[in-house]
Amino acid sequence: MSALLEVRGLSVEIVARRRRLTAIADVSFEIAAGEILGVVGESGAGKSVTGTAVLGLLEPPARQAAGEIVFAGRRIDTLGAEAMRALRGKEIAAVFQDPLTSLDPLMTIGAQLAETMLTHLPITRSEAQARAERLLAEVGIPAPRERLSAYPHELSGGMRQRVVLALAFCCEPRLIIADEPTTALDVSIQAQILDLLRRMCRERGTAVMLVTHDMGVIAEVADRVAVMYAGRVVEIGPTRALIEAAGHPYTRGLMASIPSMRRRTAELMQIPGAMPRPDAPVAGCAFHPRCARAFDRCAVERPGSFQAGASRVACWLADPALAGAGA
Ligand code: SF4
Repeated sequence: MSALLEVRGLSVEIVARRRRLTAIADVSFEIAAGEILGVVGESGAGKSVTGTAVLGLLEPPARQAAGEIVFAGRRIDTLGAEAMRALRGKEIAAVFQDPLTSLDPLMTIGAQLAETMLTHLPITRSEAQARAERLLAEVGIPAPRERLSAYPHELSGGMRQRVVLALAFCCEPRLIIADEPTTALDVSIQAQILDLLRRMCRERGTAVMLVTHDMGVIAEVADRVAVMYAGRVVEIGPTRALIEAAGHPYTRGLMASIPSMRRRTAELMQIPGAMPRPDAPVAGCAFHPRCARAFDRCAVERPGSFQAGASRVACWLADPALAGAGA
């Protein structure tokens, strides 16, 4: 399957007080049309920075230091601000954690949907309004015609996030970057919003880059997963393969943190220690201070990325040369 989005060797650095800090380094992945790629990791792992870079929304002091971003066969990280803005509204949409980031508090919901469509699609105002009403119905907003004239603050958090989904889908984008889209919501509402996101994507063939710290969210909706740690992708592969046999010790720790479906309040397993900060990088494998399986080489040499079954794993334990040596 050919890729809709290709991120190749992407690095982002932050220049602060005459120091260059690496936010993400050598990040590569692809997303096929209609595919949901989950990007998971702890806070500060670099997943949101990656999403922001794909959206062309990096702001100083952050800047792209290396790599390229190719969307639908065209390199987009070199586009000017105007071309990128046009692409962002139409072909690539964003859904953020806080619906109020995406919604204008001073505009009615109907006006926001209509304005977005009129900016990007060759349709009339009455067509836009009819389409806005259909979209609100599709995302499960009761009495959609009346809701067109409501303001965001008049809706609950869950309803607002449904409106954000309507806004994201209104121009029929080919890719949605969803950054922690359900983190601020109650667990029962989270499941509904994820279900809605997955259904709408499946029906339209929309691809999604789903950024989350929650492996449970990934397990429910993602086709493939990229696990990030300290600014790098440490494992990438099909969701099922990662759930059944994660290759990287960090991924295994994340998997163990998924609460049991039957006992959602079960105590979560924590990975001891903390991820290194960009201003205090560690040598070798960035995970080695926390890794129960670390050995001498891990502290001095950063592992490459090795094929392990259907996944790629950045861990010396996945190095075929090591297996050949009987380690
Ligand atoms: Fe652990 Fe070493 Fe693998 Fe890093 S390379 S995850 S420290 S075993």
